[in-house]
Amino acid sequence: MIELNSCRKNVLLQKIRPMRILTFLLFLLLFIFASAQQKTPKNIIIFIADGGGYNQMMCTDFYLYGDYPKSPMASFPVQLAMSTYNGSLQSQGATCYDSKKFWTGFSYGIAGFTESAASATAMGTGFKTHNSMIGMNLDGNPVTNIMEIAHAKGKKTGVVTSVPFCHATPAGFSTHSKSRNGFSEITFQMLNSGTLDVVGGSGHPYFDNDGNAVQVPFTKYIDTTSWVNLKSGSGNIKWYYTENRNNIKLLANQKNAPEKLFMLAPVSGNLAEARTGTSLVPFDIPVKQSIPTLAEMSLAALNTLSTGPDGFILMVEGGSVDWADHDNCLPRMIEEYSWFYNTVDSVQQWLKEKGLLEETLIIVTNDHECGYLWGPGCEGSTFVTPKNNGKGKIPEYKYYSTNHSNTLVPFFAKGPSSDIFYSLADETDSVRGSYLTNSEIAIAVKMLWGTTSEIILSSLTENEISLMVTLPCPDAKIQWIMNGRRVDGANSAQFSANLSGYSTKVVFHCEVICGDTKYMTKPYEINP
Ligand SMILES: [Zn+2]
Repeated sequence: MIELNSCRKNVLLQKIRPMRILTFLLFLLLFIFASAQQKTPKNIIIFIADGGGYNQMMCTDFYLYGDYPKSPMASFPVQLAMSTYNGSLQSQGATCYDSKKFWTGFSYGIAGFTESAASATAMGTGFKTHNSMIGMNLDGNPVTNIMEIAHAKGKKTGVVTSVPFCHATPAGFSTHSKSRNGFSEITFQMLNSGTLDVVGGSGHPYFDNDGNAVQVPFTKYIDTTSWVNLKSGSGNIKWYYTENRNNIKLLANQKNAPEKLFMLAPVSGNLAEARTGTSLVPFDIPVKQSIPTLAEMSLAALNTLSTGPDGFILMVEGGSVDWADHDNCLPRMIEEYSWFYNTVDSVQQWLKEKGLLEETLIIVTNDHECGYLWGPGCEGSTFVTPKNNGKGKIPEYKYYSTNHSNTLVPFFAKGPSSDIFYSLADETDSVRGSYLTNSEIAIAVKMLWGTTSEIILSSLTENEISLMVTLPCPDAKIQWIMNGRRVDGANSAQFSANLSGYSTKVVFHCEVICGDTKYMTKPYEINP
C-alpha cells in the first residue's frame, strides 16, 4: 500500500512547485503514517471450515437459501482461492497444484493431498510440512506459530473448535509435535506453555458422542495427569474451567471475563456430527441441549480475548465439516456448515456491538477439501457442480472420495489490511481465478504484525529456559548466541539453556541467514 502511494507521489510531485514540496512531503508522510497505522489490524480472527470447499458451500447454500452464493462470506470484499498441498509433495518436486492438470483430469484432484495437521502448520506458521506434523518444518524442527508471536507481542490468543480441543487444526496453530496423534503431548503444551489464553472444544473424558455421562473416562484427548491439573488448577497455568452451556452463554457478555478460559463441551468426539442416528435431512436428529454451540464458545472466547489493550488472535474451526465429508453424509455436512456460517455471523455481530469490528481482520477459509464433492457425472475434463433442488431440498450431489482432495478452496477476508491477500495471491487458476497458498496466511500475519526474526520465550522453569526464533524463510541457517558466545550445535529454531550456573543477567541473540540476507534478532535478556 505504501508502494502504491509512492507511485502516486511521483506523478503528483511534477505538478507541484518546488517551494511547496517540503510541506507537501511532510503531509504525505503523515498521510502514509496515518493510513498505515489505521490499516494494521489490532485483532485477527481466522475461521476454518475443516474439509469444506466451494461445492460444500454450494450444497449448503442451495439447502439453506435456495441460491448460491448466499453465505455470510458472499459479501466479503476479498474473495480469492487458496491451494492447500503439503510440503512433502513440494519437496519431492511433484506438482503442487497444477491448474491445467486439475481441470483436464478428474482423478488428478485425489492423487495427492494434505491433511489437517500439515495444513494447520502451514497456515499457523508459514511453513509447509509433511502430513501429520504439528508446528514443525520438513526437517522435524519446531517453527514458531502466529499464536506464539501474538503472545510475545502481548496480544491475547485463542483456539475454539467443534471437534476435540487438541485436534490437528487447533494444535497446528499453537503447539509442536511430530505427530497429530500425540494428544498427551499436544494437550500438555496447550495447558502449560502459556501461549494460549482461551481453549474451547469437545473431547470431554466423561461423556460419550451423544453428550451422555459415562463412568469410565475416555483419556485419548486428555490424560489423567492433565485432567487432574486442569480441574484442580495445579498445573502451570490456572485455568478457569467450564463445561456448562449456560455459563458459556453468560461468559459472552460477562464483566470481569476470566483471564485464562478453558471450555470443554460435555461430549466426546465432536459437538454434534458424531451423535447417534442416521440423518436423512439436516437437523432431523436433535443435539443434546447441554452441549454448547461453536458460536456460543466463540463469543465467550472473544469476551476474554478482548480484555487486553493490545488486541488478540483467535482461530475458530468448524472441524466437523470434515468428519461429515469423510462419512459422505451430506445432511450432516450441511448442518455443520450452517453452524459455521452462524458462527461467522454471530462473531461479527458481537464485534460490532462492542465496537471492535473495524479493527479486526477476518479471514474465512478451509484447510483442504474433503470427499471430492461434485454433482453426478464427473469424468475426465467434465466437471459437474451440484444441482439446486430448491430451498429445504437436498441438492443433487455425489461424493467421489472418502478422503481429502487437492482442490483449491475458497478464501475470504475483510477488515483492516485485508487487501494484503491480493498481493499474495499471485497464481491464477483457469476456473477459480487468483489464488494464494495456505502458508501465506501466517506470512501475511507476520508482515502485518512486523515480525521477521524475533526471539520468543517458549517456557521458563527455575533452571531451564526454552526460546524460539521466528524465521523469515523456510531454509534459514540459524545460530544461537549466548552472552556473546556462539553456542555449538544450537542451529534450530528452538533453543534450551540451563541457567543454573548463572547468577547475573544472561543475554541471548540469534543470527538467522536467509540466502544473502543476515538477520540479527534484538537481544533477549533474562535475570536468573
Ligand atoms: Zn479429514
